[in-house]
Amino acid sequence: MWRCTKEAGLACDPAQIVAEHRVAGSVTEVVIVGGGAAGIAAGRRLTDARIDCLIVEARPRLGGRAWTVGDGSGAAIDLGCGWLHSADRNPWAAVAEAQGRTIDKTPPPWRRRSAPIGFPLAEQSAFLEALQKFEQRLDSLADGADDVAAATFLEPLGRWNGLIDAVGTYVSGADLERVSARDLGRYDDSGVNWRVVQGYGTTIAAHALGVPVVLDCPVRCIDHSERRLRVETANGTITADAAIITLPSALLAEGTLAFTPALPEKIRAAAGLPLGHADKLFLSLSDADEFDKDSRLFGRTDRSRTGVYHFRPFGRPQIEAYFGGPLAAELEAGGERAFFDFALAELSALLGSTFARRIRPLRLHPWGVDPFARGSYSYALPGSADCRAALAAPVDDRLFFAGEACSRGDYSTAHGAYLTGVAAAEQAIAARRGKRPA
Ligand SMILES: Cc1cc2nc3c(=O)[nH]c(=O)nc-3n(C[C@H](O)[C@H](O)[C@H](O)COP(=O)(O)OP(=O)(O)OC[C@H]3O[C@@H](n4cnc5c(N)ncnc54)[C@H](O)[C@@H]3O)c2cc1C
Repeated sequence: MWRCTKEAGLACDPAQIVAEHRVAGSVTEVVIVGGGAAGIAAGRRLTDARIDCLIVEARPRLGGRAWTVGDGSGAAIDLGCGWLHSADRNPWAAVAEAQGRTIDKTPPPWRRRSAPIGFPLAEQSAFLEALQKFEQRLDSLADGADDVAAATFLEPLGRWNGLIDAVGTYVSGADLERVSARDLGRYDDSGVNWRVVQGYGTTIAAHALGVPVVLDCPVRCIDHSERRLRVETANGTITADAAIITLPSALLAEGTLAFTPALPEKIRAAAGLPLGHADKLFLSLSDADEFDKDSRLFGRTDRSRTGVYHFRPFGRPQIEAYFGGPLAAELEAGGERAFFDFALAELSALLGSTFARRIRPLRLHPWGVDPFARGSYSYALPGSADCRAALAAPVDDRLFFAGEACSRGDYSTAHGAYLTGVAAAEQAIAARRGKRPA
């Protein structure tokens, strides 16, 4: 096994972790399947409570969908989560501060007007008003009423439906037709959004400092038929008293992790919570000063299949292009070139054909084809909002479930993952203490 022993630079990577190797035959009190935000938060809580635990992670790195990489010039870019959403109550903000990181509190571009290029200010006001009215209609869905698709609340033939749906694909990773109105209405956002200059992914991975971890070790099966759990991994079997399972819901629905005996209710719950598509393409930008720091442009305002372009994030000479839903899925099928060509076409249409000379692709990660994610963040299908509680429910007081998809109101976020990880760890602690002799 590996024990994370050093403060990480850009990430808590294996080079900075001390090896203790053996997995086959190892025994622990609580095994944590998956070393993303939820698994790390759970491992931290258990380690602090002096409960023997082990994070077993399939990738050669920690963090999962939280992943900071370098941009080649020393700056950190987040290919997964980047914004501390609900930052005034987001536990990762305190973690970042305790790690001595720099928190940037510049309001996000979506809280301000876009540059009036291809989108005059009067039209922006009309769009914002239409978006607000859509959100109000969504919130009016009574608790007892049947759940429906969020698209039901679009104004019939509304002028801004395409752009509202585009925003829906950035938020949920799917068209509003596929998204539960009840679940979307339950999302709890304080409206405060900050960033970590050194990277959100770096912060999350470094929180595993001192927690026992094994990397490169996919878990294949959890046999819970006997008194002790047998956790079968690619590198051998681990025996444990309890497990915290934090895999993305898409992987649980696919049955990537088998349970003996089977847990059909978990597969059903996970199937109601698919992972949507959302991908970021980072571009370098020359003569960047022409654009305002942290400003944005929509590629198009009349359709849902469009990118949104964040210019000069943190003031850097870059563009962070964001694609969601079916568009992101389609571009993933075409590879990195397809993302770049799409961005280039939309930006050239707005800024002129010579703009092509000013941008170069920097980084992209296609999350939908990532075998250990299979998507970006969860949304609930219409009628499936309560699958989140069903997925989160413990089994026999020894199989506990965590991860962003288990959160009722903070789903799809890294802080939602954190809170579910800590909650699962608390459940495991209570169960362990109940079973231990006084
Ligand atoms: C493009 C993008 C932008 C985002 N932007 C934001 C944002 O701005 N703010 C925000 O809060 N959130 C954002 N998110 C969402 C956020 O990143 C996730 O909600 C959060 O990181 C999920 O954490 P998790 O622990 O639930 O899951 P994961 O991070 O997916 O962790 C699960 C872990 O399980 C591992 N695993 C998979 N299979 C196995 C196996 N068989 N055995 C062992 N391990 C396995 C995976 O490798 C992974 O490390 C974004 C995500 C993406 C992709």
